[in-house]
Amino acid sequence: MTEVYLDNNATTQVAPEIIEAMMPFFEKLWGNPSSMHTFGGQVKKHVEQAREQVAALIGAEPSEIIFTSCGSESDNMALRGAADAAGGWPHIITTRVEHPAVLTPCRYLEKQGYRLTELEVDSLGRLDLDPLKTGLRDSAAIVSIMWANNETGVIFPIGEIAEIVKGAGSLLHTDAVQAVGKLPIDVSKTPVDMLSLSGHKLHAPKGVGALYVRKGTKVNPLIMGGHQERGRRAGTENVPYIVGLGRACELAAQNMEEEAIRVAAMRDRLEAGILKSCPDVRVNGDRQNRLPNTLNVSFEFIEGEAILLSLNELEVAASSGSACTSGSLEPSHVMRAMGVPFTAAHGSIRFSLSRYNTEKDIDYVLEHLPRVVARLREISPFVR
Ligand code: PLP
Repeated sequence: MTEVYLDNNATTQVAPEIIEAMMPFFEKLWGNPSSMHTFGGQVKKHVEQAREQVAALIGAEPSEIIFTSCGSESDNMALRGAADAAGGWPHIITTRVEHPAVLTPCRYLEKQGYRLTELEVDSLGRLDLDPLKTGLRDSAAIVSIMWANNETGVIFPIGEIAEIVKGAGSLLHTDAVQAVGKLPIDVSKTPVDMLSLSGHKLHAPKGVGALYVRKGTKVNPLIMGGHQERGRRAGTENVPYIVGLGRACELAAQNMEEEAIRVAAMRDRLEAGILKSCPDVRVNGDRQNRLPNTLNVSFEFIEGEAILLSLNELEVAASSGSACTSGSLEPSHVMRAMGVPFTAAHGSIRFSLSRYNTEKDIDYVLEHLPRVVARLREISPFVR
């Protein structure tokens, strides 16, 4: 059993209240919500209740929520479905720091003939909005810009972006997988057209997500077949998980504000402790404007993976900003886009907290991490 779990941007512990809400739909209420008979039909109202709970968390109408299997499916449906429906959007605009669930379909659409623009970020991971304005001047576009970055936690100004995109008559999708449940979101005030979310980032299980599609927005289904989700996403509904996602959204709505303050205080103590006890450390991303639970730090001259392995031995779970590609340890595309120097990008670690972390967790990491870093620096092959 991991002593300290600080990898909540990868996935979160399923909340006991959510497991409790889901259980009846495995044990007793296992009918098909599309069935004519009462046994199946009675389940439908629970799916609709979950739809209301998801909608309420983000200020949407229930009819604007489509249940999907995950955040990746929501992102793919938004991009490929909108491109397919309109046919007349020759231009796609995104950022260099999106999750692969957005970047990969964008690059796929580029191969299909769409023009693709990937907006740059600065060294703090912030977006310059001028190229977006310029890009929208000559043609309408599908724009996909994340609400908050999964690696650094940096929050993009989606309100301002929405004004620019809608002002230019274009379509805006936002990947809010890391933001939903951590930040207040209200699509009745922020005019995005589509928004992706994923259950397992807010204490529901893995394998359920949703796509918000503003009324009137044309999006073709990605999965075709039956008439579920009003013909927008075929496949018999994953009822227990949908109920779990609904409950997760209800819990997030109740606790988000208080949780954000408590979690941010622990994150800030972890950050201050690391900066005080370890030399040659830099925080990656805009510290003034990031998710309350996320801290990305680079320990210069050591590999992030080496730190993670040592932390793992101490039963601390965190994550590295690097992805291991074909045997070579490449810094992540986010670190590269931010221009983080090579020696720092390789030593980047993401700590991401949740409501289940305690002050003791932070004490434990601060007690052990400085020694881990000092030991690895002694054997580091990087020249100082
Ligand atoms: N978008 C972002 C920003 C994410 O962080 C993730 C998952 O890490 C996804 C999309 C994909 O979500 P899922 O794992 O539910 O497919």
